Amino acid sequence: MNNLNTGIDYLLDLNARHSQAFMDLATERRRYRGEHPTEIAALKCMDGRLHLPVMTQTALGIIQPFRNLGGIFDLGWPFFQAAMNQWVEYSISRGRYCLVFVTYHFARGDTHRGCRGFHYETDAARNAAIKLKEQFDRVYGKGAVVSIVCGIETDLDALILHGENDRSIDLANTKETSQLEVEEMLRLLYSSMPERVIRDLTPLVRGNIRHIAEIRASNRPIEESEHKEWVLAVGRGFDWLHVINTAFIVGPFDPNLAVAIETAARLLKNNFDEGRIDPSGIVLLTSGVYRDEAGPEFRLAKEKALFLSKFTLDIIQDKVPDLKPHLQILTGRTDLNTRKFVMIDRLDKHTKQSVA
Ligand SMILES: [Zn+2]
Repeated sequence: MNNLNTGIDYLLDLNARHSQAFMDLATERRRYRGEHPTEIAALKCMDGRLHLPVMTQTALGIIQPFRNLGGIFDLGWPFFQAAMNQWVEYSISRGRYCLVFVTYHFARGDTHRGCRGFHYETDAARNAAIKLKEQFDRVYGKGAVVSIVCGIETDLDALILHGENDRSIDLANTKETSQLEVEEMLRLLYSSMPERVIRDLTPLVRGNIRHIAEIRASNRPIEESEHKEWVLAVGRGFDWLHVINTAFIVGPFDPNLAVAIETAARLLKNNFDEGRIDPSGIVLLTSGVYRDEAGPEFRLAKEKALFLSKFTLDIIQDKVPDLKPHLQILTGRTDLNTRKFVMIDRLDKHTKQSVA
């Protein structure tokens, strides 16, 4: 692996480029929102391959990601239910529907390219997604919040849409491509889905069909989709960090956060032990998020990021101590308006120097 493509400076540069792209897309996002007002969230595994904006050819910032190990969530989790309900209330206050993608992932060519969070058992991952969707239905009913189970197949980056009445469609096999055909396909698949949501889901489906065609045409080597993550990212605001094989992302949602961090640290250590990544470029990255620099939110984001860094380091020290000497540490906060990551602290292990 190329040295230049890992480490803290690479991450800062990556963020700067994506923040610029995000800001450049502001006009496009406003136009898109005007046309497709439904708010969209995706509950996903922390696996770095799962980048829905790329897979659906959708502008950054349209799909709100929530990530955790295996894509495992529970609306009973205090922090997760607060974050989710806040998002729902925000959407409803603006008169918008909420569409929640409840996802699991697998690879059609080899089960061992599937989800390590579920020990590569696709049935178990899918069943967990189905149960979570049922929980959403139980809590939010069939009104403004619509949830769908969606498989993400990573060999072709194809979405598998699980409909009502146990029907499902693998978008890698679909022949429908026009707007009218896709809308009709979705109406058949989701007979109770509001028409507004059908029309706002359609561009994502068509984008995925186009993306699959591009992946097929490019003959993307499977090698690219193997486990080479070299960043352990803890916190929120990482939708800029979507480069394949880059990061294990642990959201702060799971009440057993320590276990999720330990699991991610072990996976990272595995990548290192098996020689898949450059040991000199391993980074622990933490981030809190804010929108308003004037208020306490900005300062709370700093406290959160610093806490998460120390918390994660303590777990690694305790559970995966061999990983610790290899870690570079980058702590910061992400401005949700620009996706700019602003550094609070960095530690480059070679110099042992901390720069504020
Ligand atoms: Zn996974």
